[in-house]
This record gives sequence, structure tokens and C-alpha cells, in this order.
Amino acid sequence: VTAHDGVVETAEGAELPADALVVAEDVHKSFGRLEVLKGIDLEVKRGEVMCVVGPSGSGKSTFLRCINHLEKLTAGRLWVNGELMGYRQKRGRLYELRDGEIAAQRSDIGMVFQRFNLFPHLTVLGNVTEAPVQVKRVPRAKATAHAMELLERVGLPDKAHAYPEQLSGGQQQRVAIARALAMEPSLMLFDEPTSALDPELVGEVLDVMRDLAKGGMTMVVVTHEMGFAREVGDSLVFMDGGVVVEAGTPDEVLSNPRHERTQAFLSKVL
Ligand code: ADP
Ligand code: MG
Repeated sequence: VTAHDGVVETAEGAELPADALVVAEDVHKSFGRLEVLKGIDLEVKRGEVMCVVGPSGSGKSTFLRCINHLEKLTAGRLWVNGELMGYRQKRGRLYELRDGEIAAQRSDIGMVFQRFNLFPHLTVLGNVTEAPVQVKRVPRAKATAHAMELLERVGLPDKAHAYPEQLSGGQQQRVAIARALAMEPSLMLFDEPTSALDPELVGEVLDVMRDLAKGGMTMVVVTHEMGFAREVGDSLVFMDGGVVVEAGTPDEVLSNPRHERTQAFLSKVL
């Protein structure tokens, strides 16, 4: 990887902007005959918080899942931190990664889903230390100390020994964020992290995300929380029908949408 004039050349010879953490190039995804993503080009800069909004079924979750290669692209390319997702360059050749190898590439990316999918049989501490110990081979004592710091950060140090079922949805979602952070990812993906929560629990999760953003984390956040998008987002992307219809600063897109489809969507949610 070489850098010059704000451009980085990747192992496969692609030239990416040096300040971009995520680069999506003409990303297509189909499920059988259903084309869900119809050519997405996007760039997320290091430290940027990008919010993604759009109607149900527009491909938002699929796009997030493509970023960390939970879904294999039908066409196009996607880089995270200079690495072409799903591939590795070795002795001048490009190899497609097998599932186990993709997991390793993915360990640089944290993801938080709508449904808090904590391991029910593990304590909060167990949930947060599981991946560092099992995947990264971090010594347990060190992983535990780091986990306690993270639980402090998400406001749950006293819940370390509780089980997920003993926690509220908001608390579980904050544990899910701590669990993702335990792998020290360079990118965090959030897929409607507050959509399944009772309204009174939404704020505590958004507060944690706001702190994370302030700390400089690069984040892609699919959300219906327009207040959060406006306040915390550096950019806002409106997706519809598998394409990016409109992108800009949150203020530009929310206050002055240029496309009819964006206007129609916003008139329903704002
Ligand atoms: P959004 O998150 O914007 O609501 P999704 O990305 O979840 O949209 O879904 C976009 C479209 O892709 C929907 O029509 C959905 O039914 C379809 N889809 C998503 N995942 C699959 C899958 N694994 N198999 C078949 N169709 C899928
Ligand atoms: Mg979705």
C-alpha cells in the first residue's frame, strides 16, 4: 500500500482517497432475480458519522451487510480500511476468501443490529469478552479489564454479572455496543439500533452512540431518528429502491431535499 497526493494505492492496484475508511464502488446485490442494490457508490471518511435513511425494503440492511461481507456482492467492489472485502492479495494474485477467512477480515468491523442478539447463556461480561478471548486470543484478565472499561463507558458497570434476560432492551443494546467495541473495530455499523426499543429507552442508546461519535469513531448508522441524524451525523444518505437517491449534509438533505422521492419520504417521517 503506497500513498501520494491524498490517494492510497491498495494491494490490488485500486486508487482510493487516503481519508476514506469505506469505499463502495458500483455495489450490486441480487437475491435470485430480485435486484436489491442497483449500483451503490459511497465513501465514508475516517471519523465520519454517516446516517442512512429510506423506506422499508429499500436495501439499507443489505447494504450494511455487504459492507462487512455478511452478504457477498453480486457485482462491484467494497474496501474497508484499504482491504478489499472478501478477497486477499497474495503473490500478485487476488484470492476469494473462504468463510472462515472472511470472519477474520470482518473482525475490524463492529455491528449492532435492531434485535439485541446477545448470547443468552453468557453474562454481560461473558458477552463482551467472548470475541476478544476466542477470536483474538486476548488473555482473559486483559479482556475482562477492557470489558469493564467499556461497560463503564456505556453506563453499565454494575451489570457485569447479570444475564441478558435480566436487562431492559436499552441496557441490552448498550451491552451489544460494548461487545462490538471490545474487538477495537475501526468501523461501527448500526442497523436501526433503537427501532425495537420502547420509546423511553431510545435516548440512553442514542447517548452512547453520540459519545462514540464524539470520540472519533467512524460510523454508518441506519436509523429513523432524524433528530440524531441532524445532530450527530456528518452526512446523510437517502436510499430508495436500491439506489442512493440523495446524499449530503443532514441539514441539506433534511431541510432542502432536492428529489421528489426524498421529499415524499421525509414528509412522512419528520
Ligand atoms: P431495508 O433494510 O431498507 O428495509 P433490506 O435490505 O432488508 O431493506 O431488504 C431489501 C429487499 O431485499 C427486500 O425486498 C427484502 O425482502 C430483500 N431481501 C433481503 N434479504 C434477503 C434475502 N436473504 N433473501 C431474499 N431477499 C432478501
Ligand atoms: Mg433494514
